[in-house]
Amino acid sequence: MENKLSLYNSLTNKKEVFKPIEDGKVGIYVCGPTVYSSSHMGHARSAIVFDVIVKFLRNIGYEVTYVKNFTDIDDKIISKAVEFNVDSKEIAEKYKQEYIKDMKDLGCIEPDFQPCVSDNIDGIINLILSIIDRGFAYEANGDVYFNISKFENYGKLSNQSIDSMLTNHRIEFNPNKKNDLDFALWKKVKDNEPSWDSPWGKGRPGWHIECSVMSCNHLGSNFDIHGGGRDLIFPHHENEIAQSESINEGNFANYWLHNGLININQEKMSKSIGNIINIRDALERWDFNLIRIFFLSHHYRTPVDLSEGRLMEIERSIKKIIKRIRTNSPNKNNIKKFNTLWKEAMLDDFNTAKAFGIFFKCVNDGEINLDNIDEIKEFENVMGINGWMNLLAIKEESKGDEIIREIIDKRNLARKEKNWKLADELRDKAEKLGFILVDKKDSTTWEPKDR
Ligand SMILES: [Zn+2]
Repeated sequence: MENKLSLYNSLTNKKEVFKPIEDGKVGIYVCGPTVYSSSHMGHARSAIVFDVIVKFLRNIGYEVTYVKNFTDIDDKIISKAVEFNVDSKEIAEKYKQEYIKDMKDLGCIEPDFQPCVSDNIDGIINLILSIIDRGFAYEANGDVYFNISKFENYGKLSNQSIDSMLTNHRIEFNPNKKNDLDFALWKKVKDNEPSWDSPWGKGRPGWHIECSVMSCNHLGSNFDIHGGGRDLIFPHHENEIAQSESINEGNFANYWLHNGLININQEKMSKSIGNIINIRDALERWDFNLIRIFFLSHHYRTPVDLSEGRLMEIERSIKKIIKRIRTNSPNKNNIKKFNTLWKEAMLDDFNTAKAFGIFFKCVNDGEINLDNIDEIKEFENVMGINGWMNLLAIKEESKGDEIIREIIDKRNLARKEKNWKLADELRDKAEKLGFILVDKKDSTTWEPKDR
């Protein structure tokens, strides 16, 4: 592969040149949602980040297998089912379908595999049996725990010592555990919970074990890239590594990519603050292209501050860009330079922020115009933006069409009657409403006004 891709590996905390296990192929696993409520903008960011990474890897010639799971067995799903007095399967299925639709509406491709925990119980039980067999886990009163003291690399991803984990994280006291940091691979059934038969009695899987099983099923015990939000590094990803590497030689995943989290109006997005923005609410208010461009104008590893104002800012920039593209003089020469530069930015740790910066600069420098706009298709495809120029134009027209037509007609009449005062007043009125009137030889048209 001639393109040299480098990426920041959370496992080594440095940027590395990407070397796939099998030449020309990439296996990527991303932790998906726990389907117990509507997905929010944090899910949207992670989904868009990895969507673009997969699209870019394919763009530069890799054959990618993209796997993203659904956690459909979980405490939160069970408590919601109890709250609404329905089967937990019903809750999981409802929010799973909602998530699939949200992803489609955000312009994300479907992963090649989207496995659910409930379809993988046999595999989970078998993996737990192997971990016990190797001496890394133990059964205690119907639960099974991973014994972290047996796994000497515990903490290698989050770069923490056992002591600092104990100090920095809230650990639940549990008399069944040998070490406070041991985590459940299997949980004994409680009343009203969904449960499955196992060698340790009725119960259900712990959270982390599912990802070790499902990634291995589709990508093998050693695969290229594992992704997810920063908040999953500890304990989830640390525990995935412990489980998988306790029974297999070598690395579980070779490269770990973590996207930064989002704040809302400079506050952490959380249920307790009550500032969670659901994807579907955001999509009602904002075009999906704007949401994508907003997230992609930040590097995937940096935190993002999301607010109405920030989205309006992006909307304004896009309007300016569209206007520039429309007015730039035809020139077919420079698009090659653009197509080289944005790819170079992406080859350097998927720097979408730089790629969009290059795009905006090329437009402002007059290099992209209506004549060569079709040649940015590759960029649009990788970024997953589609119809953004038309959509914004149509939006403006539908919003302003009637009002602006009326103003233009009245003004035409005023000009015919040489009533310049009224004509100027009508021009000002249009401007206040956000429209610039453009007088041509035989007609008057309008453009959206830059705020
Ligand atoms: Zn996971």
